[in-house]
Amino acid sequence: MEFPTQADNKFDSSPMKIAFFSTQPYDRKFFDEHNAAFGFTIEYYETALSEKTVNLLHDIQAVCVFVNDQVNRPVVEQLAKRGIKIIALRCAGFNNVDLQATTDHGLRVVRVPAYSPHAVAEHAVAMIMTLNRKTHKAYNRVREQNFSLNGLLGFDLFGKTIGVIGTGNIGKVFCSIMLGFGCKVLAYDLYPNDKVTKTGVSYVPLVELIEKSDIISLHCPLTVETKYLINDQSIPLMKKGVMLINTSRGALIDTKTVIAGLKSGVIGALGIDVYEQEEKLFFRDLSEKIIKDDIISRLSSFPNVLITAHQGFFTQEALTQIAETTLSNLRSFETGDKLLNEVKLS
Ligand code: NAD
Repeated sequence: MEFPTQADNKFDSSPMKIAFFSTQPYDRKFFDEHNAAFGFTIEYYETALSEKTVNLLHDIQAVCVFVNDQVNRPVVEQLAKRGIKIIALRCAGFNNVDLQATTDHGLRVVRVPAYSPHAVAEHAVAMIMTLNRKTHKAYNRVREQNFSLNGLLGFDLFGKTIGVIGTGNIGKVFCSIMLGFGCKVLAYDLYPNDKVTKTGVSYVPLVELIEKSDIISLHCPLTVETKYLINDQSIPLMKKGVMLINTSRGALIDTKTVIAGLKSGVIGALGIDVYEQEEKLFFRDLSEKIIKDDIISRLSSFPNVLITAHQGFFTQEALTQIAETTLSNLRSFETGDKLLNEVKLS
């Protein structure tokens, strides 16, 4: 199938109109600043793209979406009906897009494959440090003039074994930080990377990584193969007291089973920046609302669980790169240039 470009529409010289979904004030700030050089017309919507909200679109040539927008087949069909030709993801992961549907309807999909991998890798390290040295608890205690150390005991990271699942852009930065702490780093990836091995990381089978690691950190994408990678088969293999860190996608872990692992003490600490049902919770202030999700409420009740609301990417550098790459992707589409960051059905 010949895929369309905006350049096919040679008589229309007006700036491309793009609808941005799931936008927050910081998205507007960074995109407005960078769009000054591109001159696109941007319509910002706070709401997520879904079967309901797709009806908002009129006279739009492109949509820009984030991690929790639903780009399933019915949405893709509606986008195609409305003449939209390109979906620009302003994130790396694309598990929320039905690529079979976009291919069937001739829609192009672009993403931001790499934007400061340091942002997410460093956030994973921040979670480890917080869970281990309990600085969040110390902060509150000292503010209340409680200078006791009871309950704040941590462990040296030096000499510990860290298991890294997925050594792509983020995973390999994470490996190098942990090597810097003097840790032994084991890794598992479908495609082991020689450059990573040369830094001192050892690739091992997944089961060996799970059995030997003191800390396991997930840096692989969510795919059919990786869904519930951490489950009732893998948790019993883990070292008692293991720390589990997930900054990738919520459904990499079977949360109910992880709760059982926390209750039994097999999992000694859990840090998650992502959650399977996060689209109903994250990126908004629900402090006045009753949370109906009993799983997140149960997780929040554990003293050894740290939850952050998908903020791994949230640094100045990453937001700058996200805005620049997203707008450049759309400009390439407009001018008919090669789409370097296109996502295609494999
Ligand atoms: P990447 O594509 O550079 O690396 C992913 C790695 O995972 C690759 O080396 C790949 O071979 C490996 N992999 C794929 N399937 C695997 C499997 N079944 N088992 C083991 N390894 C497998 O991606 P990245 O930029 O490093 O990002 C990793 C993930 O981090 C993304 O998919 C996304 O879900 C998540 N992410 C989270 C945030 C955040 O804010 N928390 C931000 C960006 C990305």
